[in-house]
Amino acid sequence: MERLTAEGNDEHLARVGHGAPGWIEVIAGSMFSGKSEELIRRLRRARIARLKVQVFKPEIDVRYSRDHIVSHSEMRHESRVARSAAEILAQVEPDTQVVGIDEGQFFDNELVPVANTLAQRGLRVIVAGLDQDYTGKPFEPMPQLLAVAEYITKTHAICVRCGQPANYSQRIVEVEGQVVVGASDAYEARCRRCFVPHADAPTRYVTEG
Ligand code: ADP
Ligand code: ZN
Repeated sequence: MERLTAEGNDEHLARVGHGAPGWIEVIAGSMFSGKSEELIRRLRRARIARLKVQVFKPEIDVRYSRDHIVSHSEMRHESRVARSAAEILAQVEPDTQVVGIDEGQFFDNELVPVANTLAQRGLRVIVAGLDQDYTGKPFEPMPQLLAVAEYITKTHAICVRCGQPANYSQRIVEVEGQVVVGASDAYEARCRRCFVPHADAPTRYVTEG
Protein backbone atom coordinates (compact mmCIF):
# COMPACT_ATOMS: atom_id res chain seq x y z
CA MET A 1 0.00 0.00 0.00
CA GLU A 2 1.16 3.48 -0.84
CA ARG A 3 2.68 5.30 2.12
CA LEU A 4 1.01 8.64 2.58
CA THR A 5 3.05 10.56 5.09
CA ALA A 6 5.96 10.07 7.40
CA GLU A 7 3.47 10.38 10.26
CA GLY A 8 1.64 7.34 8.90
CA ASN A 9 4.66 5.14 9.52
CA ASP A 10 5.11 3.50 12.87
CA GLU A 11 8.62 4.63 13.51
CA HIS A 12 7.44 5.76 16.97
CA LEU A 13 6.72 2.16 17.87
CA ALA A 14 9.89 1.47 19.81
CA ARG A 15 9.16 4.24 22.25
CA VAL A 16 5.85 2.81 23.44
CA GLY A 17 5.83 1.62 27.04
CA HIS A 18 9.28 2.91 27.96
CA GLY A 19 8.10 5.75 30.14
CA ALA A 20 7.58 8.02 27.14
CA PRO A 21 4.28 9.83 26.67
CA GLY A 22 1.67 8.13 24.54
CA TRP A 23 -0.05 9.67 21.54
CA ILE A 24 -3.12 9.58 19.32
CA GLU A 25 -3.05 8.67 15.62
CA VAL A 26 -6.16 9.25 13.50
CA ILE A 27 -6.80 7.57 10.15
CA ALA A 28 -9.70 9.44 8.52
CA GLY A 29 -11.31 9.39 5.10
CA SER A 30 -14.35 8.30 3.10
CA MET A 31 -15.72 4.79 2.81
CA PHE A 32 -13.50 2.38 0.82
CA SER A 33 -10.50 4.64 1.35
CA GLY A 34 -8.52 1.94 3.15
CA LYS A 35 -8.91 3.12 6.75
CA SER A 36 -9.42 -0.40 8.11
CA GLU A 37 -6.57 -1.78 5.98
CA GLU A 38 -4.24 0.89 7.31
CA LEU A 39 -5.38 0.34 10.89
CA ILE A 40 -4.86 -3.43 10.54
CA ARG A 41 -1.42 -2.88 8.99
CA ARG A 42 -0.31 -0.76 11.94
CA LEU A 43 -1.75 -3.22 14.47
CA ARG A 44 0.01 -6.16 12.84
CA ARG A 45 3.32 -4.32 12.95
CA ALA A 46 2.78 -3.47 16.60
CA ARG A 47 2.23 -7.17 17.29
CA ILE A 48 5.39 -8.06 15.37
CA ALA A 49 7.14 -5.65 17.75
CA ARG A 50 5.64 -7.81 20.57
CA LEU A 51 3.53 -4.99 21.93
CA LYS A 52 0.29 -5.88 23.65
CA VAL A 53 -2.52 -4.73 21.36
CA GLN A 54 -6.24 -4.43 22.03
CA VAL A 55 -8.76 -3.52 19.34
CA PHE A 56 -12.31 -2.22 19.70
CA LYS A 57 -15.22 -1.58 17.42
CA PRO A 58 -18.70 -0.24 18.08
CA GLU A 59 -21.65 -2.54 18.75
CA ILE A 60 -23.43 -1.14 15.68
CA ASP A 61 -20.85 -2.55 13.31
CA VAL A 62 -21.01 -6.32 13.55
CA ARG A 63 -21.95 -6.76 9.87
CA TYR A 64 -19.14 -9.09 8.90
CA SER A 65 -17.93 -10.33 12.26
CA ARG A 66 -18.49 -9.79 15.97
CA ASP A 67 -14.93 -10.49 17.02
CA HIS A 68 -12.88 -9.09 14.14
CA ILE A 69 -12.54 -5.85 12.28
CA VAL A 70 -12.76 -6.66 8.57
CA SER A 71 -11.72 -4.46 5.66
CA HIS A 72 -13.50 -4.38 2.30
CA SER A 73 -10.50 -6.26 0.96
CA GLU A 74 -11.00 -9.04 3.54
CA MET A 75 -8.08 -8.13 5.78
CA ARG A 76 -9.04 -8.86 9.36
CA HIS A 77 -7.84 -8.39 12.92
CA GLU A 78 -9.25 -9.67 16.17
CA SER A 79 -11.36 -7.12 18.04
CA ARG A 80 -13.81 -6.66 20.87
CA VAL A 81 -17.15 -4.92 20.78
CA ALA A 82 -17.63 -1.81 22.92
CA ARG A 83 -21.06 -0.22 23.32
CA SER A 84 -19.62 3.14 24.34
CA ALA A 85 -16.33 4.97 24.64
CA ALA A 86 -16.47 4.41 28.41
CA GLU A 87 -16.64 0.66 27.74
CA ILE A 88 -13.40 0.89 25.76
CA LEU A 89 -11.68 2.47 28.74
CA ALA A 90 -13.11 -0.16 31.08
CA GLN A 91 -11.89 -3.03 28.86
CA VAL A 92 -8.32 -1.83 28.38
CA GLU A 93 -6.05 -4.12 30.39
CA PRO A 94 -3.23 -2.74 32.56
CA ASP A 95 -0.43 -4.17 30.39
CA THR A 96 -1.89 -3.05 27.04
CA GLN A 97 0.43 -0.79 25.05
CA VAL A 98 -1.48 -0.16 21.82
CA VAL A 99 -5.22 0.45 21.47
CA GLY A 100 -6.85 0.32 18.03
CA ILE A 101 -10.37 1.62 17.45
CA ASP A 102 -12.25 1.14 14.18
CA GLU A 103 -15.37 3.04 13.03
CA GLY A 104 -14.63 5.82 15.51
CA GLN A 105 -17.51 7.90 14.13
CA PHE A 106 -20.01 5.47 15.65
CA PHE A 107 -18.78 6.17 19.18
CA ASP A 108 -20.08 8.93 21.44
CA ASN A 109 -18.17 12.16 22.09
CA GLU A 110 -16.56 10.59 25.18
CA LEU A 111 -14.18 8.96 22.70
CA VAL A 112 -12.09 12.14 22.80
CA PRO A 113 -11.40 12.17 26.58
CA VAL A 114 -11.03 8.36 26.52
CA ALA A 115 -8.37 8.54 23.80
CA ASN A 116 -6.66 11.38 25.68
CA THR A 117 -6.70 9.42 28.95
CA LEU A 118 -5.12 6.38 27.31
CA ALA A 119 -2.47 8.45 25.52
CA GLN A 120 -1.76 10.26 28.78
CA ARG A 121 -1.05 6.89 30.39
CA GLY A 122 1.61 6.24 27.74
CA LEU A 123 -0.41 4.18 25.27
CA ARG A 124 -0.39 4.48 21.51
CA VAL A 125 -3.99 5.05 20.44
CA ILE A 126 -4.96 4.55 16.79
CA VAL A 127 -8.46 5.56 15.72
CA ALA A 128 -9.85 4.94 12.23
CA GLY A 129 -13.13 6.51 11.15
CA LEU A 130 -15.22 8.42 8.67
CA ASP A 131 -14.51 12.13 8.79
CA GLN A 132 -17.75 13.06 6.97
CA ASP A 133 -21.22 11.59 6.87
CA TYR A 134 -23.08 10.86 3.63
CA THR A 135 -24.14 14.50 3.30
CA GLY A 136 -20.54 15.70 3.59
CA LYS A 137 -20.92 17.03 7.14
CA PRO A 138 -18.14 16.38 9.70
CA PHE A 139 -18.97 13.17 11.53
CA GLU A 140 -18.58 13.59 15.29
CA PRO A 141 -16.53 12.72 17.23
CA MET A 142 -13.90 12.35 14.47
CA PRO A 143 -13.35 16.12 13.93
CA GLN A 144 -12.68 16.54 17.67
CA LEU A 145 -10.21 13.67 17.57
CA LEU A 146 -8.45 15.14 14.54
CA ALA A 147 -7.96 18.30 16.55
CA VAL A 148 -6.24 16.58 19.46
CA ALA A 149 -4.33 13.84 17.58
CA GLU A 150 -0.55 13.96 17.30
CA TYR A 151 -0.63 12.23 13.90
CA ILE A 152 -3.25 12.32 11.16
CA THR A 153 -3.47 10.25 7.99
CA LYS A 154 -6.11 11.10 5.42
CA THR A 155 -6.98 8.19 3.15
CA HIS A 156 -8.72 8.44 -0.22
CA ALA A 157 -10.84 6.00 -2.18
CA ILE A 158 -11.23 5.96 -5.96
CA CYS A 159 -14.27 7.77 -7.36
CA VAL A 160 -16.41 5.09 -9.00
CA ARG A 161 -17.63 7.61 -11.58
CA CYS A 162 -14.43 9.20 -12.83
CA GLY A 163 -11.47 7.45 -11.24
CA GLN A 164 -10.14 10.50 -9.39
CA PRO A 165 -9.29 10.36 -5.67
CA ALA A 166 -12.57 10.21 -3.73
CA ASN A 167 -13.20 12.12 -0.52
CA TYR A 168 -16.95 11.50 -0.14
CA SER A 169 -19.26 8.61 0.68
CA GLN A 170 -22.34 8.83 -1.54
CA ARG A 171 -25.41 7.07 -0.21
CA ILE A 172 -27.11 5.26 -3.05
CA VAL A 173 -30.17 3.94 -1.25
CA GLU A 174 -33.18 5.90 -0.04
CA VAL A 175 -33.06 5.84 3.76
CA GLU A 176 -33.36 8.60 6.31
CA GLY A 177 -30.88 9.18 9.13
CA GLN A 178 -27.15 9.80 9.49
CA VAL A 179 -26.33 6.20 10.30
CA VAL A 180 -27.06 3.46 7.81
CA VAL A 181 -24.49 0.76 8.21
CA GLY A 182 -23.66 -0.81 4.92
CA ALA A 183 -21.03 -1.20 2.25
CA SER A 184 -21.13 -1.30 -1.53
CA ASP A 185 -24.87 -1.95 -1.45
CA ALA A 186 -25.61 1.36 0.27
CA TYR A 187 -22.66 3.67 -0.45
CA GLU A 188 -20.09 4.41 -3.10
CA ALA A 189 -16.93 6.50 -3.16
CA ARG A 190 -17.16 9.80 -5.07
CA CYS A 191 -14.88 12.75 -5.70
CA ARG A 192 -15.95 16.34 -5.03
CA ARG A 193 -17.24 16.81 -8.55
CA CYS A 194 -19.25 13.58 -8.72
CA PHE A 195 -20.63 13.74 -5.18
CA VAL A 196 -24.28 14.81 -5.00
CA PRO A 197 -24.61 16.61 -1.65
CA HIS A 198 -28.38 16.14 -1.32
CA ALA A 199 -29.63 13.54 1.08
CA ASP A 200 -32.63 13.12 -1.18
CA ALA A 201 -30.82 12.46 -4.43
CA PRO A 202 -29.89 8.79 -4.41
CA THR A 203 -28.83 7.39 -7.76
CA ARG A 204 -27.38 3.96 -8.06
CA TYR A 205 -24.44 3.99 -10.40
CA VAL A 206 -24.01 0.79 -12.35
CA THR A 207 -20.66 0.10 -13.95
CA GLU A 208 -21.02 -1.03 -17.52
CA GLY A 209 -19.74 -4.47 -18.49
P1 ADP B 1 -12.50 1.75 4.71
O1 ADP B 1 -12.18 1.18 6.07
O2 ADP B 1 -11.92 3.12 4.50
O3 ADP B 1 -13.97 1.70 4.36
P2 ADP B 1 -11.27 -0.67 3.78
O4 ADP B 1 -9.88 -0.68 4.36
O5 ADP B 1 -12.31 -1.51 4.45
O6 ADP B 1 -11.76 0.84 3.62
O7 ADP B 1 -11.22 -1.16 2.26
C1 ADP B 1 -10.34 -0.64 1.29
C2 ADP B 1 -10.43 -1.57 0.07
O8 ADP B 1 -11.71 -1.44 -0.53
C3 ADP B 1 -9.47 -1.28 -1.07
O9 ADP B 1 -8.19 -1.82 -0.86
C4 ADP B 1 -10.15 -1.97 -2.24
O10 ADP B 1 -9.83 -3.35 -2.25
C5 ADP B 1 -11.64 -1.88 -1.87
N1 ADP B 1 -12.41 -0.93 -2.68
C6 ADP B 1 -13.68 -1.13 -3.11
N2 ADP B 1 -14.15 -0.04 -3.76
C7 ADP B 1 -13.19 0.89 -3.73
C8 ADP B 1 -13.07 2.23 -4.23
N3 ADP B 1 -14.08 2.85 -4.88
N4 ADP B 1 -11.92 2.89 -4.01
C9 ADP B 1 -10.90 2.29 -3.35
N5 ADP B 1 -10.93 1.02 -2.87
C10 ADP B 1 -12.07 0.32 -3.05
ZN1 ZN C 1 -15.48 11.69 -9.66
